[in-house]
Amino acid sequence: MFNHPDFDAHEGVHLFSDTKSGLKAVIAVHNTARGPAAGGTRLWSYADPSDAVTDALRLSRAMSYKNAMAGLDLGGGKAVILRPETDFDRKALFEAYGRAVEAVGGRYITAEDVGVSPDDMRIIKTQTDFVAGLDEGPAASGDPSPVTAEGVFRSIKVAVRHAMGLESLKGLRVAVQGLGHVGYGLCEHLHAAGVHLIVTDINGAVLERARQELGAVIVEPDAIHAVVADVFAPCALGGAISETTLPDIRASIIAGAANNQLASPEMGEACRARGILYAPDYVVNAGGIINVAAEVSGTYDPKWVSEKLEGLELTLKNIFVMASESRLPTNVVADKLARERLGLSVV
Ligand code: NAD
Repeated sequence: MFNHPDFDAHEGVHLFSDTKSGLKAVIAVHNTARGPAAGGTRLWSYADPSDAVTDALRLSRAMSYKNAMAGLDLGGGKAVILRPETDFDRKALFEAYGRAVEAVGGRYITAEDVGVSPDDMRIIKTQTDFVAGLDEGPAASGDPSPVTAEGVFRSIKVAVRHAMGLESLKGLRVAVQGLGHVGYGLCEHLHAAGVHLIVTDINGAVLERARQELGAVIVEPDAIHAVVADVFAPCALGGAISETTLPDIRASIIAGAANNQLASPEMGEACRARGILYAPDYVVNAGGIINVAAEVSGTYDPKWVSEKLEGLELTLKNIFVMASESRLPTNVVADKLARERLGLSVV
C-alpha cells in the first residue's frame, strides 16, 4: 500500500468485509487537517478488487482538495463498496456498511455518490450518525445536485468574464454533455440567462425534454465536444478531455460538473497551450459538498450555502488570474493552492 502509485500519505485506508451481507468496502481517509474527512460512497462493479482501492485513494485525495478549496472545515475521504456479483439484500448490505462507517469512529462522514441514493443513506443512518445527504431530519440537506448546478453556472460566468470580458451570458453557445441531475439543472440556469444550448445524453427522453422545454439543439454523444460553442460543459462521466477529444474542442472555455474531467493531469497544460481556459472540476463542482457541509454543521442555513458559493467564485477567479500571470495550467495552480491549504508538500 505504501508504494501504491496513488498513495499520498493517506491517514487511513480501511478494508471491511461482512460475509453475511456480502459487503466488501474500502474507506479511505486522505487528510483530516481541516476536520473530519467527508466524501461520498460509491457502489460500483470493479473488474479487479485492487481497482476499488485505487479509486478510493484517488477520490479521497480529490475530496481533500475539493473541501479545502471550498473553504470547508472538512477533510477528504471517500468510500467504495464493491457491488456483489450476485443478487444481494440492499438493506443488509448498507446496514453492514453503516457499521463499517461507525467503526471509523467519526474520522469519516459519508454521503451519496455514484450508485447510492438518499434511501441508502437512511439505512446507513440506522447504524451510525456519521452520515449526511439525508432527505429527512432537522438539518437535512437533501439532493445536492441543484446546488452543484448553481455552482457550475456561477463558475461559467466567472470563466466567461475572465476569458471573454463579458458580464452577461446572453447569446453565448454552451455545449452540455450529460443531462442528469446536475446537467439538466445547469441547462435550466443557462436557458434563463439567454444561452443557446447544444446538448447530448445517452438517454433519449431527457434530450426530448431539453428540446421542448429549453429549445436545446441535440447532437450525438460522440460529437458534443467538437461543436462550435463558447463553453464546453462536461456533466457526464470523467475523462471528457483527452488526447483524442482535445484537438477537436472548439470552445475557448471548459467548465462543467463531472469529476476527473482531465484524462491525465498533462491535459491541463495541453488546454493552456491551445488557449482553452479549463476551470478545475473540483473547484467548479463543490456546490454539492458545500450543501452537505451545511447539514454536517447541524443547522442547514441557506445563507451560509450562498456565501460559500460566492467564495467558490472568488477562488476560481484567483486561480484564473494566478494561472495567467504564472503561465501555468489552471489544474496545476489549483492543486498547488489546495495542497498549501492542507499543509501538504507541493508535488
Ligand atoms: P447523473 O447520473 O444524474 O447524470 C449523468 C448523465 O450523463 C446521465 O443523464 C447519463 O445518461 C449521461 N451520460 C452518461 N454517459 C454519457 C455519455 N457517454 N455521453 C453523454 N451523456 C452521458 O449524475 P449527476 O449527479 O448529474 O453528476 C454528473 C457528474 O457530476 C458526475 O461526474 C458526478 O460525479 C459529478 N458531480 C455531481 C455532483 C452532484 O451533486 N450530483 C457533485 C459533484 C460532482
